Amino acid sequence: MGGCHSYPSATEADGKTLQLSDISDDKLGINNNVLEKQLYLQEQNVSQRITHTDMMALTALPVGVDHAEWLASNTVAFFKHINLFSSALSEFCTPSTCPSACGPGNAVYMWTDDHGRKLKCSAPLYFDYAMSYIQDLLTDEDVFPTRAGAVFPSGFVFLIQKVFLLLFRTLSHIYWSHYGEAVMMGLHPHLNTLFTHLTLFCQHHALLEAEDMDSMKELIAALGRRGWS
Ligand SMILES: [Zn+2]
Repeated sequence: MGGCHSYPSATEADGKTLQLSDISDDKLGINNNVLEKQLYLQEQNVSQRITHTDMMALTALPVGVDHAEWLASNTVAFFKHINLFSSALSEFCTPSTCPSACGPGNAVYMWTDDHGRKLKCSAPLYFDYAMSYIQDLLTDEDVFPTRAGAVFPSGFVFLIQKVFLLLFRTLSHIYWSHYGEAVMMGLHPHLNTLFTHLTLFCQHHALLEAEDMDSMKELIAALGRRGWS
């Protein structure tokens, strides 16, 4: 099973000889993050896609379409897809398997509450907060107006950038902590396709800083070498 425990350093690992009998069930998840990374970077897994559609063409603004409308409709679509993936794997992401919301390199994501306080919480709680936050934004008529002639607020792109960062972290956590389970369920071709689409969309529309995507740069480069279609 995946998990968010840190991987012991080579020095620690070399310093003692672990017997299988020393490892309780609770500790079996400890090494998995590095194994998950090796797994998702394997060529045979990187090449798994559900479609060979031209992803570049999918992300670009179609002629005659308003840019804010294009960002808004894609935000809704990405949210629905990523929320669905997160739900499909939720049985594996619990406070005991993932006591902190971690991503590649064992980065720990902290939730900032309405008062600006940073909260350290389990991964399921962090991603629950994230999905609720996005859902509330998407249904806020002042942010995502649906009335004819209504305009998007001046801070719209800033809010969208925050949404895409949370969506990117959601997929990063799945790769980092639950990739083996995604493979077991046969979801990895969908995951690669969704992640490729999300990454290209963010790059094309400048929605994420390079440093936000840095933790996944090896996978992004590996997927890119396979081509975007
Ligand atoms: Zn998890």
